[in-house]
Amino acid sequence: MADFHMETKCVQSGYRPKNGEPREVPIIQSTTFKYDTSADMGKLFDLEASGYFYSRLQNPTNDYVAAKIADMEGGTAAMLTSSGQAANFFAVFNIATAGDHVVASSSIYGGTYNLFHVTMRKMGIDFTFVSPDCTEAELNAAFRPNTKAVFGETIANPALTVFDFEKFSKAAHAHGVPLIIDNTFATPVNCRPFQWGADIVTHSTTKYMDGHGSCVGGAIVDSGNFDWMAHAEKFPGLTTPDDSYHGIVYAERFGKEGAFITKATAQLMRDFGSIPSPYNSYILNIGLESLHCRMKQHCANGLAVAKFLSESDMVEQVSYPSLPGDPYYSRAQKYMNGGNTCGVVSFRIKGSRTDAEAFMKHLKIFAIETHVADARSCCLHPASSTHRQLSDQELLDAGISSNLIRMSCGLENTEDLVQDIAQALDAVKASR
Ligand SMILES: *Cc1c(COP(=O)(O)O)cnc(C)c1O
Repeated sequence: MADFHMETKCVQSGYRPKNGEPREVPIIQSTTFKYDTSADMGKLFDLEASGYFYSRLQNPTNDYVAAKIADMEGGTAAMLTSSGQAANFFAVFNIATAGDHVVASSSIYGGTYNLFHVTMRKMGIDFTFVSPDCTEAELNAAFRPNTKAVFGETIANPALTVFDFEKFSKAAHAHGVPLIIDNTFATPVNCRPFQWGADIVTHSTTKYMDGHGSCVGGAIVDSGNFDWMAHAEKFPGLTTPDDSYHGIVYAERFGKEGAFITKATAQLMRDFGSIPSPYNSYILNIGLESLHCRMKQHCANGLAVAKFLSESDMVEQVSYPSLPGDPYYSRAQKYMNGGNTCGVVSFRIKGSRTDAEAFMKHLKIFAIETHVADARSCCLHPASSTHRQLSDQELLDAGISSNLIRMSCGLENTEDLVQDIAQALDAVKASR
C-alpha cells in the first residue's frame, strides 16, 4: 500500500485478505501452531523459513497490525510490543549493551527517562542527556567512542518541545549511529520521522493509535536505511554470528531492511517476552482505522484550547507548538503535516502548585488521569504524578515546573472544552 495516502493506509494497510478470507483482521488467539514434520518446524527455529511456532515470538494478528504501522511510517519492518516502555527498551537494547553509551534528549517522557537513567544504567549502559535545543557543538561533544544511538521524541511528553531532526540526525550519522525517535505524540499522521533522517521509530500505541484508552501497547519500526555493515565494529550484535541461532549474521541474512526487527524478535522477544495479546492488537487496529480522522479533531481542539489559554490573565505561559508565537512553532511548521501536532497542551497557571491542583478539581469535562491522547479529555499535574521522582533540577531540565498542567484534548466539542477551562479558571480566580 506504499503508494497510497495516509488515510488509505490507516484503513487498509497490513491485513489484505485473499479470496474468501475474513474481511476483518482475524484474531489468532493461539499460543502455538501445528506442523506436519519436525523438519518443517526446525527451519523456523533456525530462521531459515518465516512462519509461526509460538506466540511469545510472533503471532499473525500482531504481525498484520505491525505491517500497517510500518506502512504508515514508510518503514521496511515492524514489531508490536506489550507497551511503549518495552518498545523503547527493545529499540535501544537491541544495539546497546553493557559498556555502551547512548545520547538522549533530556526532553522525553518520564517513564523513558527512568528506564534510561535508572534501570538501563544498572544494566551497564550509560546515557548522556542533552537539551533538545543544544548547539551542534554541545551535541557533538556528548558522543563517545562507545556511543551506539541517539534518542529523542518528535513532540516531547509532557514538555511539548519539537525535536530538531536535522541537527540530531546529522550528528548521529556523522558519528555512525542511528537516530531512534519516539513518535507517539505526533503519530505518522502528523510527522513521518524517516523523511527527516530518523532510522528507527518507536510508539506507545497506548496513546493516539489506540485512541480510546483501551489497550497498553507499543511498536518499533525500522526505516531500513541504516547500514549496519558500514559500521560493523560498532554493532557486533547485528554484524557478527549469533550463537543462539547457529551463527546467523542478522545484517547479512536479513539486510538493512530486516536485520534490526528480526534480531529484536529472535533475541529480545524470545528472551523477555513482551508480546501483546492478539486481542489487543485487534483493538489497536480498529483504532488505527480512524487515526487520521481523530488526529484532526484532537489538533483542532488543542489549538482552540491553547489560543484561549494564551489570552487568559490567569495563565503564565502556554506550550503548544501549533500556536503562533510558541518557541517550537517554526519547527512544527517545518516537520509536521500542516503544522499540526497533537491534542496535548500544557500551561503554567499563574500561582503555585496549589492553584494548579484547585483548577483541576473544578474541571467538569477534563478528568484527572495518568493518561493522554484518547477520545476523552483529561488533565494531569506532572510534578505531583508522572514526574514526582525527579529532583527540582531534573524537572527543570525536562521542561516541567510545579505550576505546569498538562491538558489532553479529546474528541469532544471544541466550544465545550474551552468553556470547561474558562469556568475552572474563573472558580480559581473567585477563591483568591
Ligand atoms: C506513554 C508513553 C510511553 C510509554 O508507553 P506505555 O505504553 O505507557 O508503556 C513512551 N513514550 C511516550 C512519548 C509516551 O507518551
